[in-house]
Amino acid sequence: MGKVFNFGWSFSKDGLFRECERAFFFHYAHKDEPFGRDAHRLKELKTPLMMAGTVVDTVIGKALVALKEGGEVRTELATKGEKAYEYIWTKSADLGPKTRTGKAPPENAIILHHHYFDHGDDDADKKAGLRTVRTCLENFEGSGLWQTLQRMSGLEWGEIRTHGDGKFPPKFRMDNGIAFWAAYDFYIKEPPKLHILDWKSGKKCHSSQQKAKQQLAIYSLYGQKALSTDLENVTAQAIWLADEPEWAPEQVDGNLIAGVAASVTENAEKVFARLVEDGDYKGRPIYEASAPDFPPAPDMRKCGRCRFLSICEEGREAVAGKVVSDDFDDEEPFEPD
Ligand code: SF4
Repeated sequence: MGKVFNFGWSFSKDGLFRECERAFFFHYAHKDEPFGRDAHRLKELKTPLMMAGTVVDTVIGKALVALKEGGEVRTELATKGEKAYEYIWTKSADLGPKTRTGKAPPENAIILHHHYFDHGDDDADKKAGLRTVRTCLENFEGSGLWQTLQRMSGLEWGEIRTHGDGKFPPKFRMDNGIAFWAAYDFYIKEPPKLHILDWKSGKKCHSSQQKAKQQLAIYSLYGQKALSTDLENVTAQAIWLADEPEWAPEQVDGNLIAGVAASVTENAEKVFARLVEDGDYKGRPIYEASAPDFPPAPDMRKCGRCRFLSICEEGREAVAGKVVSDDFDDEEPFEPD
């Protein structure tokens, strides 16, 4: 049995639940549970490409905060990003093995998966992450979109979140009352329009674009329900930094919004039906969840990339026995957080 605290729903929870219910269980059960300390550490580990994405988001976030606060326009973002990437990599190499032996890492430290397990650095992996940082930030700084944002800096902007600042957008409620989080990057109000924007540093492929469309549908609902904007005035854009992006937020199709809302709500209800309320912590409900209610979905390709492999017996068996399922999304099995 595992305790689950302060449970709300989100697009990334929905995605993980679809990929593997056991991975979902590990990810959200509380760290004080017997297996929870390991699961809690494992879920925070990153790959070099995930770390690159965090660096890109943070460097852009800081440039936007400076702009919003009327400071100087930041330049040479790619160089700043590369330095941050190298610094975090070095810290991770030091902290990773210590964290595995039980030493708590400093708050907001980023630990790479292979450092945690004390595997040596792979130079090609490291360079791929570094290349992502440079490409995304050079594309951003040279883009029409960055020029447009500079012209829009006098408008009302939403809170700009950067790595480790602990800020979360407020929750909103779906029609069935379930609390929902939307982890967009930031928004701009240009009355009567509301533009919601999300950076994408990953690979732009059919699967990632489909996921991004669904994410924008949820962000549109956030605009309507949390920011009280009529849906026809909410526009959203996934900004693919592998290209030089232009300013192009668009209204999301109403049928898509309704379909995504119905599908994520259905999954949320399935999960809540398996949780048993067991008291509260400071007024927020605590639930009991049982691992057998969240069965594993073993597949050697999926499990081979799953962060919980080391604590999942079924996953290890699938990898050892080369078990393959037929519903595997080869392009991106786990959406980076
Ligand atoms: S290792 Fe495989 S079966 Fe286990 S939690 Fe991960 S994806 Fe699911």
